[in-house]
Amino acid sequence: MERFPLSFYYRIADQLVDQAKVYRDEQRIHDLYTTLSRYCRLAEVLPQHKSFMAYSLNEKFHHKKIYQDFIQELQMLNQVVGNDSLPQKNNSLSSITERKVAHCCTVGTKSMSFTRVYEEKTGLASVFTFDTTTAKDWNFNLHKVKSSPSPSLSCIYSMPFTGRVSHLTADDSKHGDSNSSLNGSSESRVLQDVHISARLMEGFLELARDNTDKDLETCGILGAFLKKGTFYVTTLIVPNQESTSSSCQALNEEEIYAVQNEHSLFPIGWIHTHPSQTCFMSSIDLHTHYSYQVMLPEAFAIVMAPTDTSRSYGIFRLTEPGGLSVLKDCQERGFHSHPEPPDGSPLYEHCSNVYINQNLRFEIFDLR
Ligand SMILES: [Zn+2]
Ligand SMILES: [Zn+2]
Repeated sequence: MERFPLSFYYRIADQLVDQAKVYRDEQRIHDLYTTLSRYCRLAEVLPQHKSFMAYSLNEKFHHKKIYQDFIQELQMLNQVVGNDSLPQKNNSLSSITERKVAHCCTVGTKSMSFTRVYEEKTGLASVFTFDTTTAKDWNFNLHKVKSSPSPSLSCIYSMPFTGRVSHLTADDSKHGDSNSSLNGSSESRVLQDVHISARLMEGFLELARDNTDKDLETCGILGAFLKKGTFYVTTLIVPNQESTSSSCQALNEEEIYAVQNEHSLFPIGWIHTHPSQTCFMSSIDLHTHYSYQVMLPEAFAIVMAPTDTSRSYGIFRLTEPGGLSVLKDCQERGFHSHPEPPDGSPLYEHCSNVYINQNLRFEIFDLR
């Protein structure tokens, strides 16, 4: 809990509020329940942070109110959906929340529709008008993923709605060399899918070219919106930054948050170049990425390595729980080595939930 400043945890809280709003609007009851539970768990431990007493009263009050509302909403969801079909004890509610919810969970209202009960309880009829026309807006085309140096189209993934996008796999950016320690997946949690624009990686390389020619790294932050259980990465924010040939540090983080907030974007991950190094996650990269993944489990890191002849890019995340726990316990800074996770998994792995979507709009905020 002391690992990050309290403001970081409040940003997670804000992001969970945003996520809950999307799920509420789309009537994704189980996702909503999980998100509200995550929020309440977090809200309950915030007072343990050493800076809590001195922290902004406004912010504390704001979230105290939200916490109370969410507890009520959780109770309502329990009544509507019924306990047995909701997440189990261990991964859902803390003891405090659980007691409060259990107290209220009684009658067999399961057969009533969520919407009706919810409307009766809240009077929010209009919030739950389900939008059946949305699917029409989402026509995806089949296409080939081209990535230097290797073209690839490893599999086609059919969307639950009308179109198609192509699935990126660990093999996509490889060029002959199949010797990788990053194979296999340790995903113990069900991650939402992520779509990235086909133009994202090449567009970023273009922006980074000046630095790359000088053997300096470049980094950017990725923002996504959430719709029907999928994150769509539409925004690249290139912050003011300080870089060397093997590191890159974003400056003025407040500017990044301002863009994210203004456009209601989730901080889904980051992208950076290795101008002369191979495609891998350095220890510093892993620490940087740790905070992204704590913020949002779907967060991923793209490494662009234009001079790596065996792998020009990689899309990575820390393994869960293995890599996350190693990084959580590591106090070192700078370049250093990490022990292997106790469960024998690698520290990080290729994301299996990221897809390239040709039709996704994409915009860049270059703050440099
Ligand atoms: Zn790196
Ligand atoms: Zn470390």
